[in-house]
Order: sequence, then structure tokens, then C-alpha cells
Amino acid sequence: IHPLYAAMGTTVFERMSALSRELGAINLGQGFPEGGGPLPLQQAAVRALQDRSAQYPPSGGLPELREAICAFYAARQGLSLQPDEVIVTSGATEAIASAILALVQPGDEVIVFEPAYDAYAPLVRRVGGVPVFVPLAPPRFAYPLDLLAQAIGPRTRMLIVNDPFNPAGTAATEAELAELARLCVAHDLVVLSDEVWEGVRFDGQPHRSILAMPGMRERGVKVGSAGKLFGMTGWKIGWMVASGAIGQALGRAHQFLTFTSAVPLQWAVAEGLGMDDVLDGQHEGWAMSRARLRQGLEQAGFTVLPNAATWFLCVDLAASGIAMTDAAFSERAVREAGVATIPISALYEENRGPSHLLRLCFTKPDDALDDAVERLARFR
Ligand code: GLN
Repeated sequence: IHPLYAAMGTTVFERMSALSRELGAINLGQGFPEGGGPLPLQQAAVRALQDRSAQYPPSGGLPELREAICAFYAARQGLSLQPDEVIVTSGATEAIASAILALVQPGDEVIVFEPAYDAYAPLVRRVGGVPVFVPLAPPRFAYPLDLLAQAIGPRTRMLIVNDPFNPAGTAATEAELAELARLCVAHDLVVLSDEVWEGVRFDGQPHRSILAMPGMRERGVKVGSAGKLFGMTGWKIGWMVASGAIGQALGRAHQFLTFTSAVPLQWAVAEGLGMDDVLDGQHEGWAMSRARLRQGLEQAGFTVLPNAATWFLCVDLAASGIAMTDAAFSERAVREAGVATIPISALYEENRGPSHLLRLCFTKPDDALDDAVERLARFR
């Protein structure tokens, strides 16, 4: 057994969902909406199961899906991509793993902003890389450009950016993206840009990819997720976009990791990406759930941080007059109140981060949200 895995715990998302199932709690922890997802996509998948080949599509993905992804980004983000620059993966996490396998060598340093999706650093370490953590400070979680400049050294190879940003639900400004891009060009870094929340913005701003910044196409990997776009997290269809030698290397990594992903679901996602009404309708529903949970929590005396994107709201426990740490609150809330949440401190290494912030997923039915608020209000 590799020592990294011998010493590793279970990811907080899996742990909280397992606890939630075991205890019958309302799960506002791991990010996922309930149910089967948009009906038109389900129907497209059924049609594909019945009418289409069940055999291997090309390793890089079904050509129709790769084309649909290009059309989607051209229309929504002004990115002009070729289908052979897109590789379909088994979820965004596989894309992240492929990119790190393909681009990070032993001794390479990789900048990881904290709090961070808990897959980044272990993957970097597994390939012999060294994660270098740069903290983002609540409540805005802005990029500390001075700290970042200090963290970049001669061994720095990669910057991992997650925009919009999970767990905080914030989004980078255009000026921040431009500055991150400038640093990548100046220091010859590649950027792994995890943009799985690109379709889940509530601040009225269009999503802008760092890949659109000058000099970034040849040094950037953009990661996307059908699970997040369509609220179908269990479908595990994601993708990565990169050009030239980097794109080719990603394809090599992916071919021996999963080779390809469930083909009927690829057909359905290809159709779904053209369904603007489905995407808009779903977004409207999420916006209402977001408002409902915020209002409920605030009425119950919780302080909720500003949120621009993602399926998550963050509660500031200290500002809400609660003396417990986020880890203690989360652990007790799932057992005693029957509500699962994610303590943000779990997304920092070695307890370096704040310990007063709790992440709650709002993409749930109204009655589950109301019930959860009532339980938390009683518990606090
Ligand atoms: N990104 C998801 C979340 O924030 C978790 C992903 C996973 O558990 N694989 O909830």
C-alpha cells in the first residue's frame, strides 16, 4: 500500500453523506440536487440506450459531445475551441487527475489556494509534486496577489484555480483572472482551471474563463462538468479542454485511466448542452432554493456570507453567536439535529484555516430546506 493512502482518511464529502444515510439526516453536505435530473436528458439517455451503439466511443469522447461542448463555450463564453481540444472524462475529478498525472513531475511545485477541493493536494503528492498552499481570506476569498507572488518560485510548475469557487460560492473578478494569467505567463506556469461551477452563477455576471486571457490557450487546462451544469452528479460526465502538446498529454493520461465514459450518457449530455430552456429552468429553480435557504437561515439568526455562485451558502458561526467550531457543529448537527453540512476547515490542511464557517448545499426540495432550517434553529 502506498504510504500516502495508508495515512489518508475518507474525503469529508463521502464521510458526511455516509453519516447522513446512516442517520437518516437531511443532507446539505456533499453538493448534489435530489432526483433524476432534467427529464429531457433522461429521455435522451433512454433513446441512446435503445437506439445507439453500446460499444466504445473514441477515448477522447463521442464526437457529437465534443462538438456540443465547443458550441456551448463559443455561445456562452466566447471561446473558440476545436473538438479535438476537448477530452470527455468520467467526471471532473478524473479530468483533474489526468491533468496532474500528465503535467506534474516529481519535485514540481503546484500552487493550491485554500480552502480547496480535497482531491487536488493528494493527487499532486501522489505524482511526487509538492503542493504550496496560498490561503484565501473570508468573506470575499479574494486572491492575495502579494502572497501568491511570494509563493511562486523556480520550481513552481502549475497553478490550480477554481472559479467560481467552492466552498465559498464566490467568483473571481475579471481583474483577478487577468492578474493570475499574467503571473502564469511571466513565470511560465500551466494553469489547471477547475470551472465546474461556470453554469451556476447568481451575480448576473457572465462566466469568463481564464483560458480567454492572453497567452493562456497554450498553457491552460479548463475543466467542466455535466454533473454540475445539469444537476446530475451521479452521471459522472466531465471534460477537459486544452490545446497543443498539453492537450495531447492529457489524452495520453486519460486513455490509461478510464479510457472513456458511459456512452449513452455522453449522447444525452451532447443533446442537453443545446437545451437552453432546460439550463435556464434549472438555474431559476436553484436561484429560488438559494433565496429560500438564505432567508430561512437569516430568520433563524444565522449570519450567511455573500454568495455569487455554486450550490452552497456559507454560515459564519462566530458571527451567528455560536461558539462551537465548524467541525464540532457539523459533527453534532448531523447526529443531534439530523442535518449534514460541510465544515470548511476540512478543506484546509493542518487546521490552518478559519474554523467558524459551515457550508450548506441549497439545491434541495423546499420542504427539506425548511425542515433543515427548523432543525438547525432548534439545535443552535
Ligand atoms: N464537489 C463536490 C462538493 O463540493 C464533492 C465532489 C465529490 O464528493 N466527489 O460537494
